[in-house]
Amino acid sequence: MERWQKERVLRSKEQQISCHRIQSTEDGCFIFSMTGSTGEPYTVEIYEDADMWELNSCSCEDCTFRPFLCKHQCYCLRMLGMEESALENVFYQPDQLEMYELLSNAPNVVGDR
Ligand SMILES: [Zn+2]
Repeated sequence: MERWQKERVLRSKEQQISCHRIQSTEDGCFIFSMTGSTGEPYTVEIYEDADMWELNSCSCEDCTFRPFLCKHQCYCLRMLGMEESALENVFYQPDQLEMYELLSNAPNVVGDR
């Protein structure tokens, strides 16, 4: 399981993934409109509330069945400044301060790397 997570982090760097729009809702959910490696659209949702970490989601197939960070979520979180070692750790749980810091970088995620 750890090995696959490492693979996803790697793919989030090597494949052509981009984010073209970010919206945030009143209850602190950040919605990233993504384009995947073959041009397909995906939506990543990341909650500001650290207690809702497990509920972060993506509309891709990888995320439909299993709860973990897919390459699209890895892409967003990496662009927000999360450490790769944290992304590779399936048991990682950020604290509230880290979530605030990460999401304050949200404008950096839009556009090409
Ligand atoms: Zn995804």
